[in-house]
Amino acid sequence: MTDTAKVVAVTGASSGIGEATARRLAADGHRLFLGARRTDRLDALAKDITAAGGTVAHRRLDVTDPDDVRAFVAAARERHGRLDVLVNNAGVMPLSPLEALRTDEWDRMIDVNVRGVLHGIAAALPVMRAQGGGHFVNIASVGAYAVSPTAAVYCATKYAVRAISEGLRQESAGDIRITLVSPGVTESELADGIDDLTAREAMKSYRAVALPADAVAQAIAYAVSQPPEVDVNEIVVRPAASAQ
Ligand code: NDP
Repeated sequence: MTDTAKVVAVTGASSGIGEATARRLAADGHRLFLGARRTDRLDALAKDITAAGGTVAHRRLDVTDPDDVRAFVAAARERHGRLDVLVNNAGVMPLSPLEALRTDEWDRMIDVNVRGVLHGIAAALPVMRAQGGGHFVNIASVGAYAVSPTAAVYCATKYAVRAISEGLRQESAGDIRITLVSPGVTESELADGIDDLTAREAMKSYRAVALPADAVAQAIAYAVSQPPEVDVNEIVVRPAASAQ
């Protein structure tokens, strides 16, 4: 471990971008604390990271439950002694046209993508303040900058993450750093949650060109590795071949 090694908690670390971020940051020497609902996946990932020489622990986490997120942050501190970085990554994307009225899916996106991030901030901000500093890395999307059909609610949640991140940045200048990372299409399990046939069909061509999840993890690692006086606020990472 180097003297720039940090304690980093990652929500939604059981697949995709969260998993790749855990692997990359552990390889960079940071101490990881991972959360998600699929603990079998977290177990396997932690074994891999440990076998590669990394330091990692994990806990079941549902970001829609504020008490659970508080307990997750507390467990990270208990395990590693402090919390330097929280990567608010957990997200869902069950796309559909608004007229399909899939209101349960709208609620789920708001609960995970918006409330989940707010729960992370509520749990970690007092801890970071008491420590004298900390860093939130919030995962938005290119959907935080432009809306497309079938993605109105998903994009709304990501616009919200962008707004919350900017507000937190303005209110926290000095001790808390905020990075918004907005990926374009990235290889992961995100689109598997789309049940609506119109949206599923539209996604086939839209998602044909995708970044490896490690490309997003590298952007996160860049922001995390900056010295304390440098606050990287927004990173958009798209596949070079993507016109979206
Ligand atoms: P994945 O579906 O592979 O990963 C999503 C992660 O979120 C999983 O680990 C899942 O874990 C977790 N998650 C979902 N619901 C909850 C919950 N209630 N509590 C805790 N964890 C939860 O997709 P990605 O890796 O692509 O998604 C990561 C982030 O990246 C999301 O915020 C997504 O919106 C964003 N993003 C992804 C893009 C892409 O093209 N892949 C593009 C732009 C943004 P589990 O189910 O085990 O709880």
